[in-house]
Amino acid sequence: MSARTLDGQALARTMHEEIRAEVAAFTRQHGRPPGLGIVLVGDNAASEVYVRNKLKTGSEIGFRADLERLPATVTLAETLAVVERLNRSEVHDGILVQSPLPKAMGPDAEQRVFDSILPAKDVDGLTPVNVGLLVQKRATLVACTPSGVIELLERENIPIAGRHAVVIGRSDIVGKPMALLLLHRDATVTVCHSRTPNLAEVCRGADILVAAVGKAGLVTKEFVKPGAVVVDVGMNKVADATIAGELFHEGHPRLALFRSKGSVLVGDVHPEVAEIAGALTPVPGGVGPLTIAMLMRNTLRAAGARAGQPVG
Ligand code: NAP
Repeated sequence: MSARTLDGQALARTMHEEIRAEVAAFTRQHGRPPGLGIVLVGDNAASEVYVRNKLKTGSEIGFRADLERLPATVTLAETLAVVERLNRSEVHDGILVQSPLPKAMGPDAEQRVFDSILPAKDVDGLTPVNVGLLVQKRATLVACTPSGVIELLERENIPIAGRHAVVIGRSDIVGKPMALLLLHRDATVTVCHSRTPNLAEVCRGADILVAAVGKAGLVTKEFVKPGAVVVDVGMNKVADATIAGELFHEGHPRLALFRSKGSVLVGDVHPEVAEIAGALTPVPGGVGPLTIAMLMRNTLRAAGARAGQPVG
C-alpha cells in the first residue's frame, strides 16, 4: 500500500485564487487593499526565506505587504515601538512579527512583543486574547499552521469527528492550537511531547497523527497504524550525509538532491511511513504552503472585521 498524497501546494494555489477575488472586492469597496505589516528582526536565514515568501505571496494576491526590517542589535523598546506604529496604522490590517527574535533581546522578548500586537490585527493568532477565544471556540484569528492542517483535512474529506487524533508537540504556535482545533471538531485528542513514555505505542492508536516536533524522520513505521492519516508539520534541514542516508534509500531522488545541494528539507515523518499510512502530507509541499495561505486569509478576515464587514 502507498499512502495518498495530501497536496498542500495545490490547495494553497486554490485558496490563493479564492482570496484574490475577495481581496479585489475589498479593494474596490474601500479604495485600498487589505494591508499586512511584517516585522523581521535580525538575520536568521530561515526567517528571511519565510518572510520573503509571505511578502511575495501577499503582493501577488493583491494585498499591500510591507516589511519592517530591524537589525539584530535593536532593543526590545524599539521593536515594541514599531509594533505600536503598526497597531495605529490605518492601512495595516494584519501584523506579523517573525519568530524567533534574536536571543540578545532577552528571554521574554518574544512574549512581550507578541502580547503588544493589537488582537484585531494579530494574524498569527498568538495574543492571549485570540488564544483565549480559540479555547472557547469563538476565534476568528487562529494560528496559521494548525488552521492550514484543518483546512487540508476538511477539503480532502477526511473525517475528524469521533476519530482519535494524536498530536506530537505542544508549542503555542502549532501543537496546542492544533489539539484545540481537532477537539473542537469532535476528535478525541491526545497531545504528546518530549516527556511522553512509549511514544510510538501512543501514536499507533491514532487515526489522525500530526507530527510537529522538529526532528527529522522521528515518526517511523512503528508509530503508525496502517491506513492512518499522517500530517507532517516538521521542517528540518538535513545537512548530514549519514542522516540523509538513513532517511532515503539509494536511488531516491531526494538523496540525489542532497548530494547535489549538500542539504535537503525533510519533515518529522520518515519516508518509509508512506508504505503504511492511508494518507500523508509531503515535505516540502504539504503544510508549509498552507501556512502562508492561512496567513493571507487571516489578513483578509482582519481587514473585513476592521471595516465592519466580516469576510473570508
Ligand atoms: P517547538 O516549539 O520546538 O516544539 C517542539 C515540540 O516537540 C515540543 O512540544 C517538544 O516537547 C516536542 N518534542 C521534542 N522532541 C520530542 C521527542 N523526541 N518526542 C516527542 N516530542 C518531542 O517547535 P514548533 O515551533 O512547534 O515546530 C515544530 C516543527 O514544525 C519544526 O520542525 C518547525 O520548523 C515546523 N514548523 C513548520 C511550519 C510550517 O509552516 N510547515 C510552521 C511552524 C513550525 P516539549 O514541550 O516537552 O519540549
